[in-house]
Amino acid sequence: MGEEKESEIQEFKLEKDSELRFEIENNNETVVLEVKAGMAEIFGTELVKGKPYSFTTGAKVAVFTYHGCTIELKGRKNISYISKETPMMSYLNCHACLEKLRQKAEQEGGRGPVTMIVGPADVGKSTVSRILLNYAVRMRRRPVYVDLDIGQGAISVPGTMGAILVERPASIEEGGFSQQAPLVFNFGSVKYQSNLTLCNIITSRLAEVVQERLQSNKKANASGIIVNTAGWIKGDGYKLLTHAAQAFEVDVVLVLDQERLYNELVRDMPNFVRIVLLPKSGGVVERSVSYRQEMRDKRVREYFYGSGGGAAAAAQGVRGASLHPHSFDVKWSDLKIYKIGAPALPDSCMPLGMKAEDNMTKLVAVQPGLNLLHHLLAVSFASSAEEDVINSNVAGFVCVTAVDTDRQTLTILSPQPRPLPDTLLIMCDIQFMDNH
Ligand code: ADP
Repeated sequence: MGEEKESEIQEFKLEKDSELRFEIENNNETVVLEVKAGMAEIFGTELVKGKPYSFTTGAKVAVFTYHGCTIELKGRKNISYISKETPMMSYLNCHACLEKLRQKAEQEGGRGPVTMIVGPADVGKSTVSRILLNYAVRMRRRPVYVDLDIGQGAISVPGTMGAILVERPASIEEGGFSQQAPLVFNFGSVKYQSNLTLCNIITSRLAEVVQERLQSNKKANASGIIVNTAGWIKGDGYKLLTHAAQAFEVDVVLVLDQERLYNELVRDMPNFVRIVLLPKSGGVVERSVSYRQEMRDKRVREYFYGSGGGAAAAAQGVRGASLHPHSFDVKWSDLKIYKIGAPALPDSCMPLGMKAEDNMTKLVAVQPGLNLLHHLLAVSFASSAEEDVINSNVAGFVCVTAVDTDRQTLTILSPQPRPLPDTLLIMCDIQFMDNH
């Protein structure tokens, strides 16, 4: 109740084509937003007039209006201001162009536009993806969202690439799209540099499976794909981007805020690919290394525990409800744990006919022990090491929360009651401290 007293109410009147931006920086604070009059949206999702929306620590939000509106913010004073300079008209134009391509695809029974969004870190790539997907579903389209940014892991946990069919606008408070059957491939690290070979293989495989699935879904096929990428755009990072563009057979590349990257792509992409340079929003907030780490932790926590119905606006949280994970002990001897990639050797040390690259995709058995503590393990759909494990998508993740070297057991945190009896587990570099 004491907190109630300290909260204050602010009212903002927005003219058409302007946005109210606010951030919540302090810990354990909540701001409640309500549209009092007019119409407004957050990153492409419409707000319901008179409905309170809660945002908590870490939220970085823009409430945009095409026609003008009145908004109320309730909570402690945080950073908040109105801006009339937004690139929303450019984004809306992009959407209109994509929509034309979708209509054409629909008429011809073909594939809708595959759009890749690229640019350096913190230019609003994820936000533009979200806006374009939201506008598409609001037009009754069913686009596929592909996220190649392993640093954030918007579709599963950090260290993964994935795809989902978008059927509803993103949640206002959690920020993410709800999902029934995400297609997830495990990379196992948040650093692309740790295994470029694996990264390219997974990207190609993801593209292949997405295309396969689209073949059996006419509506989604005509709606096309939005591919979000990571902010690593130089050197090898650029090569990963062009590989992804090829793998997904992109039709349109939207380049946010970087003329240099735009020109490189114009030079290197085939002529039929449309490359469009778009401005970034002045509202996009730069994120520090520690903020990113916090957001990663939050993603993993939400993977196991859900976002508890609370607000997690900034994170691309995709699970709204509270989840109740299971915890149980497993004997070391009952587990088959592997790592992908043996330590790098020069080509001259490799057996005849093998390249150092082959080593990067090798499955190496991991002896259970303290080395596994706090690590995430991917639960593979492959059941034996003889199968094509790196080309298999994953069922989900578990976390090793304790290791007992005397009893030779691991304590496992898992969304499922028990892992499948014959499961192959892949050790990830990602660690998570379960202090629930
Ligand atoms: P990128 O994907 O390029 O790294 P994001 O789309 O994740 O960038 O944006 C970075 C942060 O800026 C996010 O927390 C997002 O919510 C915030 N943001 C984006 N656009 C705006 C805006 N117009 N006003 C306020 N915050 C914004």
